[in-house]
Amino acid sequence: MSLQLFDTYTRQVRKFEPLNPEEVGIYACGPTVYDYAHIGNLRTYLFQDILRRTLEYAGYKVKHVMNITDVGHLTSDADTGEDKMEQGSKRTGMTAWELADFYTEAFRNNLTALNILEPHIWCKATDHIQEQIAFIEEIEKHGFVYKTSDGIYFLSQKLNDYGHLARLNIDGLQAGARVEQGEKKAITDFALWKFSPQHETRQMEWDSPWGRGFPGWHIECSAMSAKYLGDFFDIHCGGEDHIPVHHTNEIAQNQACRGTTLANFWMHGYFLQMGNAKMAKSAGAFIRLETLQEQNIDPLVYRYFCLTAHYRTQLSFSWESMEASRVALNRLYRTCHEWGEAGEADASFLSKYESFIYNDLNMPRATALIRDLIRSDLPNAVKKATLLQFDKVLGLDFAHWEPVIEAIPDAIKALAAARESAREAKNWAEADLIRDQISAAGYAVEDTAKGSRLTPKP
Ligand code: AMP
Ligand code: ZN
Repeated sequence: MSLQLFDTYTRQVRKFEPLNPEEVGIYACGPTVYDYAHIGNLRTYLFQDILRRTLEYAGYKVKHVMNITDVGHLTSDADTGEDKMEQGSKRTGMTAWELADFYTEAFRNNLTALNILEPHIWCKATDHIQEQIAFIEEIEKHGFVYKTSDGIYFLSQKLNDYGHLARLNIDGLQAGARVEQGEKKAITDFALWKFSPQHETRQMEWDSPWGRGFPGWHIECSAMSAKYLGDFFDIHCGGEDHIPVHHTNEIAQNQACRGTTLANFWMHGYFLQMGNAKMAKSAGAFIRLETLQEQNIDPLVYRYFCLTAHYRTQLSFSWESMEASRVALNRLYRTCHEWGEAGEADASFLSKYESFIYNDLNMPRATALIRDLIRSDLPNAVKKATLLQFDKVLGLDFAHWEPVIEAIPDAIKALAAARESAREAKNWAEADLIRDQISAAGYAVEDTAKGSRLTPKP
């Protein structure tokens, strides 16, 4: 069965074939570390984790590179406004450097809590200033740059297929945007290097052949992906918002001086929505993983919730759906736990599972297959082994789940004892009444071969 993936560049589901059979290269645009990640950002990293795990399940060795944007991402995509890091520094009182370390650590903790496999290489934009300067010099040699009063810009019109990734309507954009354009020659031109403001000292600035300043946002990903994965690698991913600006500009930079579109596949995760709006850091109020945890929602419940939607569809967050996912996942954990020891996995279920995951990561279908597995008449040991195989990609950690043994309050134990006595006396109506009371108090009473058992309800 071959792995098929959707490529945004060609707008096609294509067969995945590694460029180098020894190792598949993935570059993922990482967070801008001026604030905590929200659960929308984390949905994008969950999608990338499913992608990586699917490649590994298929037998490939993966080299996963993720950058940390700790300089140069401005508040406006039009290369105006403040650097988000300098802004975050004013907001928190930390230096821009402390801010970057603090939010990088918080982000990494979020990934761990979501059971997202750690990238093999983390690379920070500020650790690669010389590589970025060298890349801009190369673009300059090819005649693609010009200078304005605030920086060095990329001449997008010199490329004949600028904007292909996003199918940009350049004339339409140009017609609508005279004011924002400023000194730029075209609205789609973008900053490669920005000069430090004359009467302001930035915390993060460097000397360059063009003057003291800092790199534009897009150049870091061209320079670092080339350094760690080469000029043309297998898969580049990010969120859907990266298609029209950030990734379009990364491609332009590479086309100008390396003649490649960076990656064989461009893959994008669609947004998590809050009602009809996208969840955004800049919108102020946003939900973090910790916000869910405060409401007793385990990070893996959020992971499960994300698996119920295809990565190329938007997903709406609500507390009701979070609760529904919590109940559903706990039921699965409990069932799997009760299956006991694992035996041999079932080949026919595995092959169905693979047909879903290899079909552009169809996780909703793959996840729904668990219900068929539970309903099947396979022996429990086979079911268990099969689910543990599925879990290599699902990443829900079925192997380690244990029921929480909560202290049962004495009053509930007394009710259970009264119910036992009613049953012994064959007073079934009384026994049922007591069971309802126990249930209303949030506990379930189960009659097993070894007597009745009390458990908190899932
Ligand atoms: P940022 O930290 O803003 O650079 O974003 C980090 C990642 O999260 C990028 O890949 C974005 O495309 C992605 N992203 C931003 N907002 C959302 C959202 N609401 N849902 C899913 N992904 C998002
Ligand atoms: Zn990037």
